[in-house]
Amino acid sequence: MQTRRALLKSTAGITLAAGAAAALPSAVLAKAPIIGHQAAGFYRLKLGDYEVTALSDGTVAMPMAKIYEGIEEKDAEAYLAGYFQKNPTETSVNAFLVNTGDRLVLIDAGTGNVMGPSLGRIVANIEAAGYKTDEIDDVILTHIHADHSGGLTTANGERVFGNAVLHVNEREAQFWLQADEKAKADAGLGPQIVQAGKNIGPYREAGKFETFADNDAPIPGFASILRPGHTPGHSAIVVESRGEKIVFWGDIVHGDVLQYDRPDVTVEFDVDQKRAAATRAIAFAEAADRKYLVAGAHHAFPGIGHVRRDDTNYDWVPLLYSANY
Ligand SMILES: [Zn+2]
Repeated sequence: MQTRRALLKSTAGITLAAGAAAALPSAVLAKAPIIGHQAAGFYRLKLGDYEVTALSDGTVAMPMAKIYEGIEEKDAEAYLAGYFQKNPTETSVNAFLVNTGDRLVLIDAGTGNVMGPSLGRIVANIEAAGYKTDEIDDVILTHIHADHSGGLTTANGERVFGNAVLHVNEREAQFWLQADEKAKADAGLGPQIVQAGKNIGPYREAGKFETFADNDAPIPGFASILRPGHTPGHSAIVVESRGEKIVFWGDIVHGDVLQYDRPDVTVEFDVDQKRAAATRAIAFAEAADRKYLVAGAHHAFPGIGHVRRDDTNYDWVPLLYSANY
């Protein structure tokens, strides 16, 4: 509570300061330059004894209203506009580091140089977060799409994570790396198959590539759940420490609004649309029931939050920012 005297004093102070500013020559009030870029994109949280660091690969304007399947483009556009999201829609690409104290594990690897200059920032953000790429022991992919595997390998075919073993679901590896001639000739899949070979190949050749069976642990302490549809071996990665749990979802959703109300809406990149929708319904129900933390590759960065039920199916509830984790 301010006393009348203090109030008078502070009011006088403000008047004085305003007067002084008015008396200064205008050149002293220098205009600050427009900076034009964001701070480094990483965000940390504690999970029991572990430290999880969300890493931004960047954001890209995607024509999501067009990409969604099972809804008219104009309806999707109106829906997104209701959440102040434009068309094209700013879309995050996220990856995640888990430091168990014994192992440094990267989950998904961003786009590298394959999806344009607004993306490809994983290495810069790993370094900004205080780590070196050589310190990463394991990389686990939720699936092989280029926005998750492009960052594994440089344009010259060198492994970005020189000491890491790469882990991918067996079914996923088979689909992309041992594709038949029909799949290779497919206009949509063909180029993705070629890209998958480029991204994964150097790890295979170096003997740094391992596959895990459906629902098996890629490495001790990191479980997987087969969540097929988006791709055949698409897998969520589950990490727990001291009773706290986070599930790295990969591409269960694309964006943080429309598919929560309409889990039946798919995206054109889903290899199996029907299965992707059914899987999403299962993943939503489980996350809402069990109330664990979820980390998404395409939720707005840092992409970590919870799922809850509401009158229109589900809601994504982003984690509150914490400066004191
Ligand atoms: Zn993706």
